[in-house]
Amino acid sequence: MPGADSGATVPAVTEQHPALPPVAPEVGASPNYPRYEPLRQLLGEYLGADSIASIDEAFLLADRAHEGQARASGEPYIIHPIAVATIVAQMHLDAESIEAALLHDVVEDTFINADDIALRFGKTVMELVNGVTKLDKIRFHNYREAQSENLRKMILAMTRDIRVILIKLADRTHNMRTLGALRPEKQARIAKETLEIFAPIANRLGISDIRAELEELGLAALYPLRYRVLKAAVAKARNNRKEIVNEILESIRRRLAEVGIPARVLGREKRIYSIYMKMVHKVLPFHEIMDVYAFRVIVGDVDTCYRVLGQVHNLFKPLPNGFKDYIAIPKINGYQSLHTSLVGPHGVPVEIQIRTEFMDQMAAQGVAAHWSYKEKGSDPTSSAAQKNAQQWMKSIIDLQNSAGSSQEFVESVKTDLFPDAIFVFTPEGKIYDLPSGATAVDFAYAIHSDIGHHCTGARVNHHNFPLSRPLESGQTVEIVTSPQAQPNALWLSSVVTSRARAKIRQYLKGLRQQECVLIGRRLLQNALGRMRVLDIPKEDLSRLLAEFNKPDLNALCVDIALGNILTVSVAQRLLKDQQGESSCPIKGTGGQPFTFAQCCLPIPGDQIIGHVTPGKGLVIHNCICNNIRDLEKAPDRFLKVEWDVGKTVDMDFQTGLRIEIENRAGILSEISNAIDVASSRIEAINSDVKSDQVHIINLVIVVRDRLHLAAVMRRIKSVPNVIHVNRKN
Ligand code: MN
Repeated sequence: MPGADSGATVPAVTEQHPALPPVAPEVGASPNYPRYEPLRQLLGEYLGADSIASIDEAFLLADRAHEGQARASGEPYIIHPIAVATIVAQMHLDAESIEAALLHDVVEDTFINADDIALRFGKTVMELVNGVTKLDKIRFHNYREAQSENLRKMILAMTRDIRVILIKLADRTHNMRTLGALRPEKQARIAKETLEIFAPIANRLGISDIRAELEELGLAALYPLRYRVLKAAVAKARNNRKEIVNEILESIRRRLAEVGIPARVLGREKRIYSIYMKMVHKVLPFHEIMDVYAFRVIVGDVDTCYRVLGQVHNLFKPLPNGFKDYIAIPKINGYQSLHTSLVGPHGVPVEIQIRTEFMDQMAAQGVAAHWSYKEKGSDPTSSAAQKNAQQWMKSIIDLQNSAGSSQEFVESVKTDLFPDAIFVFTPEGKIYDLPSGATAVDFAYAIHSDIGHHCTGARVNHHNFPLSRPLESGQTVEIVTSPQAQPNALWLSSVVTSRARAKIRQYLKGLRQQECVLIGRRLLQNALGRMRVLDIPKEDLSRLLAEFNKPDLNALCVDIALGNILTVSVAQRLLKDQQGESSCPIKGTGGQPFTFAQCCLPIPGDQIIGHVTPGKGLVIHNCICNNIRDLEKAPDRFLKVEWDVGKTVDMDFQTGLRIEIENRAGILSEISNAIDVASSRIEAINSDVKSDQVHIINLVIVVRDRLHLAAVMRRIKSVPNVIHVNRKN
């Protein structure tokens, strides 16, 4: 397995950039070519000729598709996709992202469809365009302000590929730059949405360049007067402050020069938005904010950061509790820097941020820096930067085997930031977050138990929707209720929230015995389909009752009604008897129903054996299971069985894993991500403490066979701080 340090994603090549590829005559002939040219120059700085030729084609298609369309300003529409692609190119994203940026509005607004894009530019570009289009369809303004956090989560959850969000952020940035052409109400609405949703997402991903621009433009559009007043005040203060800023700058530079530390020292301009927020939240007057002098020292490596810290503490007196070490403990978005507050000359407060060049670049570009695509980077240190970038990424989002190839790198970042949640709306626009797999019944109970108890159906995005089908993020769900309706024990087999399950059970328990028998019988009948309950052969019935340990059919029906026994499991047993073993993955059972032993959870590829266990029927064990050692003693209890390989290919099997880890923050989610990346999923989890540092995690996961299991285990082993991964049996 390639280790994280075995090389850069893209090999660094040291020769000079070749010239831009020639412009195809068709592209050059477009009247809009001059608008595209600067972008093309920019691409030439970091992409190869092949990539640019393909991007030329995307430009040409977008140009034709948007022909005759105009923006609100009256300018030709194509300037928008070009501007969005330019912002994406400034982040140095790859060719696929640039193509998707150029094409991001064509599917919605023109005759071109997704298939055309897939055909000409590949599936990835199509998926990126579709992703952006999907985000465009959420009409944020209908939703309440208090729901912003959920909306942000939802956007991240809906997006499997972070490049979609980067393109969307670029799209929003250009729309904000050109907001002036719109009606004032529309301006205010978009500005508000930008401040509440998109700037925080940029922040979450650590892209402070874009966050800062969105906040600045948002504030200017939402509160034009306040913005103008503050801007004028800042300009004035800047003039008055010039001298003292220079004095402080000079003394820091002089000191660092004296001790021989090479560094860039900058006086940092305060952003109007952050001044405004400080005034609002901390209720500080303007001059108190402006009297804080902010500086940034940028150096070569981490050790030097701490040396600089020592020097500035020696130069100016530090304030108590004024020091924050975001290098040792990065912010959640990966931001790293030392922050210290000091008392400067004349007693003025001074704030200094100390960081490396690399941290500075990361602070500006965040997650986007990871696609800084060095197709032919001439800088020999670029591969080191790339490697560091990947390391950084690893600490935020699970990043496996990043060194393998850029494809694998992208794959590994295609992660749900919130893999276990979905976000759905009420018709009024209120957002509920539910575990993934939740159904309309879960949703109904999440709103109110009365709604759950009386729900008879659901409408999703105005269409009827089965109560048992899992919902998806972004759907608007309407619950249909009727006063006569009551909970259905069948719901218990599809709901996933413990709230819904508990409420349904509680309700069913309250039903009288007689009623339970009737309900249970009806449920069983439903599950059996054409076969009538009364027609169940006597011997099947008595075996069934023995299996569930029930004296008679009525008792079984009561348990079904109360949800203690699932009808599907009863029906499966009965119908299996009737239909033989047509879809049975195990050969040699003689048509007997069977279960897989929970002690060893065998999977295809394992040597297996059937054991007839009193009260449980035929149980399939792994041959190496400790619980079947009495094979010699009671050979009549054992049945020779084997996998029916033709039938198992499309089936999933549960199996157990024992993982020993050195505990640290985030490791569980990294493991769960690794499992996800390996196309498996977790069915059950529990953990144990072995010692202070070492914890044991026991998982039940789902795999196709031993080969698949091996791949999953490899993925888990690649998570840092995982000590051992063993199969449990
Ligand atoms: Mn757009």
